[in-house]
Amino acid sequence: MSGTPLLLPTSLKVPTSPSGRSGYQVYMETFGCQMNEYDTEIVRSLLKGRGFQFTPHDDEADVILFNTCAIRENAHNRVYGHLARYTNRKKERGLVIGVLGCMAQNLKQELMDTRSFIDVLVGPDGYRQLPDLLMDALEHHKRGLAVDLSEYETYAHIVPDRPDGINGWIAVMRGCDNFCSFCVVPYTRGRERSRDPEGIIQEANRLVSQGVRQITLLGQNVNSYRWGDWDFARLLVTVAEVSGIQRVRFMSPHPKDFPPALFEAVAEHPAICKTIHLPLQSANDRILERMGRCYTRREYLKLVEAIRKKGPIVLTTDLICGFCGETEEEFQDTYRLVQDVGYQAAFVFKYSERKHTIAARKYADDVPEQVKGYRTNQIVELQKEISLAKNKELIGTRVEVMLEGDSKKSEFQWMGHSDHNVTVVWPKDDLARQPGDLVPVMVLDASPSTLYGRV
Ligand code: SF4
Repeated sequence: MSGTPLLLPTSLKVPTSPSGRSGYQVYMETFGCQMNEYDTEIVRSLLKGRGFQFTPHDDEADVILFNTCAIRENAHNRVYGHLARYTNRKKERGLVIGVLGCMAQNLKQELMDTRSFIDVLVGPDGYRQLPDLLMDALEHHKRGLAVDLSEYETYAHIVPDRPDGINGWIAVMRGCDNFCSFCVVPYTRGRERSRDPEGIIQEANRLVSQGVRQITLLGQNVNSYRWGDWDFARLLVTVAEVSGIQRVRFMSPHPKDFPPALFEAVAEHPAICKTIHLPLQSANDRILERMGRCYTRREYLKLVEAIRKKGPIVLTTDLICGFCGETEEEFQDTYRLVQDVGYQAAFVFKYSERKHTIAARKYADDVPEQVKGYRTNQIVELQKEISLAKNKELIGTRVEVMLEGDSKKSEFQWMGHSDHNVTVVWPKDDLARQPGDLVPVMVLDASPSTLYGRV
């Protein structure tokens, strides 16, 4: 890397010791998915191990880090907006600025060439190098880069530094080999690699000892999890058996290789939540083929039918509107399938072209922005109606809710989530209740996203 002269931070509080440990203050923001949240916990652990300290106040920090997402254009724009906040401050008093994660990996050259105020760029497989790169930037004014993808890195023996709370997540694998044509993940997170189940189970036990009651197992495509004769269904059931865990969720399986053993485990194990996220993306066969999703509309519907035969399992999904070449008729195929399947929730996105992807190389991004927006709104409105109808069906029934804390709107109300992952709010009936308690709540009213009730 070429060196860029920098001002040394004026707020250096603790000098570096000969052991290479630092007392520098770090302020960190995280964008994107739960996998990024998990990676932030790994980064915190690695930096704390070298004596860095974390502050929630950016004006106290010597180092500003952004853990970024590259999945959509607006994720990039948000990071650029936040970076702009610190460029003046850097000129005034010196700061080391680092961009981590998927955007650092995918746009490394562009960021290094056009954003000279960035000192450190580190991709998802380079976090072990971050402490040294930051020390070089802080003390020797060197710019640093760690963007090599690894076939082996899983951070298996790093104990994540997580905030207190009843929810915890564990990454069971990293990377993705599916190369869906619209998706940048295989380029930013590299090839699929699974973690040793023993380490995962140890991590689950550790989370329980820290007060976690609900664990979400994470992977870009958990169905690809393999370790010897372990597959994901076996791993999920084993984690659900860990004493002290009340609920286990997982994100995300791919519909193309969804094994019956997995939905059987969901249907049958009392600690595994009765909900499956089944990303559809499109319900038109020509578009699915262009997307490289490896299933047809018919195969997807057969899977939905098989899951529903097993029991009352709630489905959620991801959808992309306005993918390259999508006609109105093809979009209507997706609209109709959403009506027919009746998801509990859908995460709907306008297609946004990502550099280096197969779609960017092969197809024209030719659906006008306005049309993309219109189609997205149509599905969002449809999904709101479906979610409301589903939630209203629950009025007069009792749902079991895991209490998480005060509701966002009132300190006189509790808030938690049902097994089906719907937010539930109810008046505080018993102040002795604790986060993690399972509370039976009678549903009295419903909105598309929230159930309101009483104990
Ligand atoms: S399965 Fe497809 S959409 Fe999901 S991370 Fe892999 S390439 Fe991306």
